[in-house]
Amino acid sequence: MTTAIEQTLETYGIENWGAGYFGINRKGNLVVHPSESDQNRAADVREIIDDLRRRGIQAPVLLRFPQLIAGQVRKLQRAFRNSIREYEYQGSHMCVYPMKVNQNRAVVEEYLREGSRYLPMIGLRVKLYSKGSGRWEKSGGEAAKFGLTTTEILETIRRVQGAGRVDMLKLLHFHIGSQLTDIKRIKNAMKEAARVYAKIVQMKVPVDLLDVGGGMAVDYDGSKTAFDSSANYTAQEFANDVVYTIMQVCDDENVPHPTIIQESGRYLSAYHAILVTNVISEIETVVEDITPIEVDDDDDPQVVIELADLRETITVKNYREFYHDALEHRDEMFTLFNLGLITLEDRAKGEVLFWDVCERADKHAQQAKYVSEEFTELRRLLRAKYLTNFSVFRSVPDHWALDQLFPIIPIHRLNKPPTEYATLCDITCDSDGVVDKFVDLHDVKQVLELHSLVEDEPYYIALMLVGAYQEVMGNNHNLFGAPNEAHVHIDDDGYLIKKVVKGSTVGEALNRARYEPGQLHEGFRRIVAQRVKRGDLSEAEAAGMVELYESRINAYTYLAVNGEQEEKRRRR
Ligand SMILES: *Cc1c(COP(=O)(O)O)cnc(C)c1O
Repeated sequence: MTTAIEQTLETYGIENWGAGYFGINRKGNLVVHPSESDQNRAADVREIIDDLRRRGIQAPVLLRFPQLIAGQVRKLQRAFRNSIREYEYQGSHMCVYPMKVNQNRAVVEEYLREGSRYLPMIGLRVKLYSKGSGRWEKSGGEAAKFGLTTTEILETIRRVQGAGRVDMLKLLHFHIGSQLTDIKRIKNAMKEAARVYAKIVQMKVPVDLLDVGGGMAVDYDGSKTAFDSSANYTAQEFANDVVYTIMQVCDDENVPHPTIIQESGRYLSAYHAILVTNVISEIETVVEDITPIEVDDDDDPQVVIELADLRETITVKNYREFYHDALEHRDEMFTLFNLGLITLEDRAKGEVLFWDVCERADKHAQQAKYVSEEFTELRRLLRAKYLTNFSVFRSVPDHWALDQLFPIIPIHRLNKPPTEYATLCDITCDSDGVVDKFVDLHDVKQVLELHSLVEDEPYYIALMLVGAYQEVMGNNHNLFGAPNEAHVHIDDDGYLIKKVVKGSTVGEALNRARYEPGQLHEGFRRIVAQRVKRGDLSEAEAAGMVELYESRINAYTYLAVNGEQEEKRRRR
């Protein structure tokens, strides 16, 4: 059993991207720890979901673990404290929370509890020549949208001096972009900014705060590289480089060490929220054999006979050639069909046989040491599509917009190895509503290992590290609203659900599209009443319809896990 769990830990890379917050318990369920150093306390995510279900709160549900925010804040503060002590840096360090990352009250309140505040008078943002790295590289450099150029800074200082208020200039700031994947770029920016800072101090401007912006990256894929979804540094390395670089430049320029202000948003917020939802069913791509195909050499068209022959004789030695033959036969079959030369039944038979050959070819291809491009493509075609109860546009918009990767993992059955390869389709009617790129240590995975679906048993998966930007960027595409939300405290007994926030109802979603639910309701009643008058409906039928209508308007915008729950929700 232990080995099976160890194997799934590796499959999903939890220890690579989890920063010590996530694990698997003996039941094979995903657990959350309040901090890296507190592995004894653990909240079982499956238990939380079952508990919420009993309270009528169904998936998708965003689970918030505020302790993870505090955990990240402490981790960062510890890293800077260490660097400051080690280098005998003369200034201090403090964090400012950049609200744009996540304005949710529960998140902000956690920061207020954990952090302290400090308000400078006037701060200047400089436009650095140095750029970041990764997807948000354009936020820095000469072409950046924000920040004062060198001439503008000099002009500002001159004006403030002219007004006799130079004492108000307290802070110098820069921010070269989010998810800075490469520590080298960060060091370069620090060098440049510290130099600007020192030169300004030498002009008798009393700035003593250097605000180094945000941008600390989250290692979403756990690869510890400069890849877009990763970071090639730890919090300690980041702190060391920031503190040491600023100190070196200031010593060189003979100016005091400034207080370092830092505005990390993503790094602090990302871990604390996970979206748990259920897979509804599998969408079939491959044409499956419903009844066993019988090919008749006398009756069936030649093309069908040939495909059947390929299926019977394909081996590990000839699979490549036979796969190519099958592609040719399939094209030929469609041509014959379009010319009216074969029947619909012939075509159906041919399709089933074709996909059978593909599946066999795929099995052989995957045994090979190097899988060629065309068979990688075939695997992509053959993989399962898991229809999943969420909206990509609402819950992981950065995956849709920027191909950003988020770790995804089942929350249960983790003591058994996954047997399927799948991609996820959401329930919006938009073909972009898919997740088909997954985190991997060495590459980007095109398919995710998941378990096979069991009828009448829910299968839950969690989209991890969605606490930064996703909630605030998420949109109402296809009228899917905010998911249900639960705030969970991890304690010695497991967990405590501190608060539940209900997600959007259908009525609220319609209201956002400027429909007035009251008016809609009235309209519906009127139509039903007319039908009763005409004798098309009985009074009882009419009442039932109105009740059903009301329950729909008040229902969650996502799919009910099953009818029973829908019923419960309706009665409340
Ligand atoms: C966005 C932003 C941040 C936060 O960036 P993260 O990548 O989330 O750390 C900090 N400061 C400024 C000025 C920003 O615009």
